[in-house]
Amino acid sequence: MKAQEAGDPSHYKILSAVEIERLRKDLRVWYDSSRRDLPWRRTHDPYAIWISEIMLQQTRVAAVIPYYERFLERFPDFHALANTHDSELLSYWAGLGYYYRARNLQRAAQQMRDAGSFPSTYGDIRRLPGIGEYTAAAIASIAFNLPHAVVDGNVFRVLSRIFNDPTNIASVNARKHFSAIADKLLDREQPGVFNQAVMELGATLCLPKNPQCLLCPVSSICRARRSGRENDLPVKITAQKNVREERVLFWVESGGKVLVWQRPPESRLMPGFWELPEREHLPGISIHRKLGSFRHGITFHNYRFEIVEATVPDELGRCRWIHIEELGTIPMSTVLKKASRMVAQSRTRHLKLDGEVG
Ligand code: SF4
Repeated sequence: MKAQEAGDPSHYKILSAVEIERLRKDLRVWYDSSRRDLPWRRTHDPYAIWISEIMLQQTRVAAVIPYYERFLERFPDFHALANTHDSELLSYWAGLGYYYRARNLQRAAQQMRDAGSFPSTYGDIRRLPGIGEYTAAAIASIAFNLPHAVVDGNVFRVLSRIFNDPTNIASVNARKHFSAIADKLLDREQPGVFNQAVMELGATLCLPKNPQCLLCPVSSICRARRSGRENDLPVKITAQKNVREERVLFWVESGGKVLVWQRPPESRLMPGFWELPEREHLPGISIHRKLGSFRHGITFHNYRFEIVEATVPDELGRCRWIHIEELGTIPMSTVLKKASRMVAQSRTRHLKLDGEVG
């Protein structure tokens, strides 16, 4: 199918007013009977819905559930979140990744504490740190029943199929284009239910590959289904290439302690987390031997980290010593976790070999 740049969204008129009404009703009925039972769907508390929406950014539903439950138990409202210590907050977030989300949550909670309440208009929600158009629309519609349509990759896919729309979803104007269509389709009486139903359809039936059209509540309306093009949509043409990068990390150990450094609070990536040093942190360091390597992917970067044992330097710079047994008590980056696990495993292997030889 030929890609098309985002253009006039008025082709939502492809569906008649009667079909649009039927689509809203069919989605609502299907969502009421078939939705997954997720913990954040059992509440109308804007705070809890907000936490779930932030956790669900870039993270799968199944992975979020235990974090969400633990987080809400420890921080049941914005007062608790606003007043917690930085390292405790990060320990409840560790493993979810994209740690700037946790920082923004706390900054937003502090604003709520100072204001005395959770904001209740789209504009005020949107102004909170870490909240974009999608999240603001989700919270406004689900928690406050305000008429704002959510638009993300799921919605791009569902709408491009229902309307048989070949707009390139990676194009600059795709969001504006699909937002305009989503806004026309939105059920203004139950915007929260409508938004969640579209998202649920994208997550469970209108899947990126092999959409389950036979089970779909809107298959009789869907134009891509009608023309047999459901597997050709959405159109996505991206120029983005994966970047490969090799990095060397130093494992410097002495007396049961290892050298680590902490990312500053203003760091865009994982502020406050601890890492193994690299050459820039210990310029004069001497390498002793290679301990191993592993791969780690962050967005479009494919890293290969080589861990080398190095001798204790004269100057520690920004690095600090920490007992190896205490590593688990500080906010560790995933790279540091993988590296320390790899070093521990390589030691166990050596011990076993020594035992066998002996
Ligand atoms: S009929 Fe198929 S392609 Fe169309 S919305 Fe439903 S699942 Fe998606």
